[in-house]
Amino acid sequence: MVALRVGVLALQGDVREHVAMLSAIGVDVVAVRTAEQLEDVTGLVIPGGESTTIARLLETSGIRPLLATRLGEGLPVLGTCAGLILLSRTILDGRADQWSFATIDVDVRRNGFGRQIASFETMIEVDGLGSVPGVFIRAPKIESWSESVSVLAMHDHGSGSTPVLVRQGNAWGCSFHPELTDNDQIHRLFVESL
Ligand code: GLN
Repeated sequence: MVALRVGVLALQGDVREHVAMLSAIGVDVVAVRTAEQLEDVTGLVIPGGESTTIARLLETSGIRPLLATRLGEGLPVLGTCAGLILLSRTILDGRADQWSFATIDVDVRRNGFGRQIASFETMIEVDGLGSVPGVFIRAPKIESWSESVSVLAMHDHGSGSTPVLVRQGNAWGCSFHPELTDNDQIHRLFVESL
């Protein structure tokens, strides 16, 4: 097997939890803080946190252009929560100047499941995996998506079912935080796809 080196974008957010989970699975993990470190990863996790802050740091760190290129070339990527926002084609309720990589053809609404106080944990049924715990913290809601997007899990939080785990080619987007539980199945799914 080709050696896997998975990067975790380490500019802001819950980096440590992703690094710990991937290390426990047994893959080589690198915390990516520079464009140079991004060059030799075979997959990347973009963590949850604050999408506007991560976007700003992507620019000041100089990582944005290389990451845009690598995503365009099909770099496998898993975006969780704020990471999903950064990968989506459209951000609703974003800041006026907020940009995204438009890697996954979904339109997400920031904080679409409610504010911090409305954070919740629930079991999510994932296609082919069964139940996994999902922690939603100011999570983005996928309000529309194109046919090229595979929906792997849906959740109904009272106003109709919407996708919470999606995949388009090598890009995976997850509204919730799999790294904040002790269940590593979503990470394994991603790693096994590499
Ligand atoms: N609402 C946050 C944002 O817009 C994302 C929250 C999270 O990643 N837990 O970036």
